[in-house]
Amino acid sequence: MIEVEIDKNSGFCFGVVNAIQSAEKELHHTDVLYCLGDIVHNSLEVERLKGLGLRTIGHEEFTRLRDTKVLLRAHGEPPATYEFAWANGITIIDATCPVVLRLQQKIHKCFRETQGDNTQLVIYGKKGHAEVNGLVGQTEGTAIVIEKKDDLDKLDFTRHILLFSQTTKSLEGFLEIVEAIRQRIEPQVKFEYFDTICRQVANRLPGIKAFASRHDKVYFVAGEKSSNGKILFEECLKANPNSVFISHASEITAPLPAHLRRIGVCGATSTPKWLMEEVAAHLRKMNE
Ligand code: SF4
Repeated sequence: MIEVEIDKNSGFCFGVVNAIQSAEKELHHTDVLYCLGDIVHNSLEVERLKGLGLRTIGHEEFTRLRDTKVLLRAHGEPPATYEFAWANGITIIDATCPVVLRLQQKIHKCFRETQGDNTQLVIYGKKGHAEVNGLVGQTEGTAIVIEKKDDLDKLDFTRHILLFSQTTKSLEGFLEIVEAIRQRIEPQVKFEYFDTICRQVANRLPGIKAFASRHDKVYFVAGEKSSNGKILFEECLKANPNSVFISHASEITAPLPAHLRRIGVCGATSTPKWLMEEVAAHLRKMNE
């Protein structure tokens, strides 16, 4: 008999829970609510909320709206979004995660304080990611985004550097960037870095490793677009090579090998609990 266990520490982080609750609360007394970008990087949860009236829009469609309500998701937005809303009668339901908001404020403060002194504000993150766009917006577009060590050639090591991180990056990757800058920066030049990684993701790494290693096979459930899903799945794979990334239960079609005894189901901070439960139920059914 195969035992199927869901990782109790997987699932939505408080930032996502808060954004979804804000949307659901608003949708109790309005038929349609616009959301700028996917409220969570999980298409099935986006579909569920669409059924309640949540309409996901992009920035282009946003600029055509007037006199309506728009929800901003946990990733946050640059100041230009708020300015546009204010000028066009759009009421913002702001579900920016408090962790992201604090980071935006910190970057904005550093930007104001260093204006004119040649300091480079650097963000370790994914170029074009919504959160990163919101962070770069705090610097009037001047911050330099670094995705990997190769990008460091973009920096001038004779000028001061302040380094921040997108909240969902891995601590390991961030520390590698810190070390690489330390090695290249000229003596007497100021280099300060701020570990702004959200512990909702980082703290899950040891837990998910332990969970993966005590199962014969692991199904990691997440949307393709989830950044933290990629990081957490990599940890799963390191701990248990018999780990599989899926987005939905229907992707499990092959019969379960007879030697399996313990199967684990886990996911990202954007994976709804109900989806992991569906996967577990599917596995149990296959095992009947
Ligand atoms: S991962 Fe952290 S920063 Fe990102 S939404 Fe969740 S709680 Fe907020």
